[in-house]
Amino acid sequence: MNLKDKSLLESRAFINGAWRGAATTFDVTNPATGEVIAQVADCAVEDVKQAIDAAHSAQKAWAAKTGKERAAILRRWFDLMIAAQDDLGMILCAEMGKPLAEAKGEIAYGASFIEWFAEEAKRVYGDTIPGHQPDKRIVVLKQPVGVVGAITPWNFPNAMIARKVAPALAAGCSFVARPAELTPLSALAMAVLAERAGMPAGVFNVVPNSRAAEIGQEMCANPKVAKITFTGSTRVGQILMRQGADTIKKMSLELGGNAPFIVFDDADLDAAVEGAMIAKFRNNGQTCVCANRIYVQDGVYDAFTDKLSAAIKGLMPGNGMDKGVTSGPLINEAAVSKVQEHLSDALSKGARVITGGNRLEGTFFEPTLLADVPASAKVSREETFGPIAPLIRFETEDEVIALANDTEFGLAGYFYANDLSRVWRVAEAIETGMVGINTGLISTEVAPFGGVKQSGLGREGSKFGMDDYLELKYLCIGGI
Ligand code: ADP
Repeated sequence: MNLKDKSLLESRAFINGAWRGAATTFDVTNPATGEVIAQVADCAVEDVKQAIDAAHSAQKAWAAKTGKERAAILRRWFDLMIAAQDDLGMILCAEMGKPLAEAKGEIAYGASFIEWFAEEAKRVYGDTIPGHQPDKRIVVLKQPVGVVGAITPWNFPNAMIARKVAPALAAGCSFVARPAELTPLSALAMAVLAERAGMPAGVFNVVPNSRAAEIGQEMCANPKVAKITFTGSTRVGQILMRQGADTIKKMSLELGGNAPFIVFDDADLDAAVEGAMIAKFRNNGQTCVCANRIYVQDGVYDAFTDKLSAAIKGLMPGNGMDKGVTSGPLINEAAVSKVQEHLSDALSKGARVITGGNRLEGTFFEPTLLADVPASAKVSREETFGPIAPLIRFETEDEVIALANDTEFGLAGYFYANDLSRVWRVAEAIETGMVGINTGLISTEVAPFGGVKQSGLGREGSKFGMDDYLELKYLCIGGI
């Protein structure tokens, strides 16, 4: 890797402000080439306990700083991340596979949360409430929850940590991050920059590890951890909630999605195609807000199919480091198997391949468009997490709303329409935490990201995002 600053490629754990090796290491592989790019310290449970102890010891002093003091450190961290954007993007592209331009975009996106919450650190306002008796006054304080344990996925190796650590640290919490075993390098590079930004020892710790289950268990059981923040599958979210029950852990969970993308007859079709391309194929279909099922109204079905097919043919799969590449590999062999399984299931139920449909070398897969997909197919019921766009025909608004909501998930939904009354009706009826209306791109640090139903608990980003890391304390002052 041709980095300007080679010290960003760190393979040791970062615990209590010190870089530490471990008894064993695990390999990190470039999914585009199969090449091993690093051997990373494989933290044992004991190391994680030490990181939690360090975070616990550091938290009170961190919380005692003024919001402005915490903000200054976070702001420096943001500046350093932006200054290192090219290198961080390259590390991310190498370990995760997304195209370099998209990887650099993720660095800017992740950093934007650190900038945003640096600003919010100064604005943790409580409240005063008129007393309920003449001699009483009531004040509400907001205080940090304490030590936060984070478990994050591989699809956004930088941003999924940034979205959690920024509000946590801004609020005065300390943080232990366990990045996905497939992509720990971006998290470690963030820690290199946190240290340079002057983060006090123990406030931010990164414990790479190849055995997620035992770390999850430790974080959930350890009484020094006040809160778990997790992004990943609903299955693992359920495990963490169960494990956290004994110590009543607070939980922020950003879990699986099954986003509907609806194109109504009155939509601007070119805009809808552009939105569908972003919502479906960004990150090669590997985001939790990816359009998973595309419902198209009868009157525009054929025209939309032709236009979307033409757009998909313009995609270029390849090594994300190469110029012009728009789609990287799938993350691993298991991801390819899932895509293939969803594809053959849809075909067996009557779907037709309009474009693509084949596995390429390595873990690459052709961007694929399927038409005439029945609502019962796996592609429309489960999160595919790959480059397959399944088209499902519908006739009425009521019918499509029922189809869209017929899922246990409720993260993102999208629709394209111009009739104002319809826009309101559908926006209110869709059971998701986020709705993109005439847009396929909804992620930003200024808005609350999160799901309903089995897609999770809590919100990340925006003025609301800080509340996930704060407790309310009410003071009742009597005898006045
Ligand atoms: P994905 O499909 O995105 O990999 P997972 O939920 O399997 O979703 O993984 C998300 C993160 O959770 C990863 O860092 C993974 O290592 C971790 N993980 C997997 N199983 C467990 C578990 N039992 N306890 C805690 N973390 C887990």
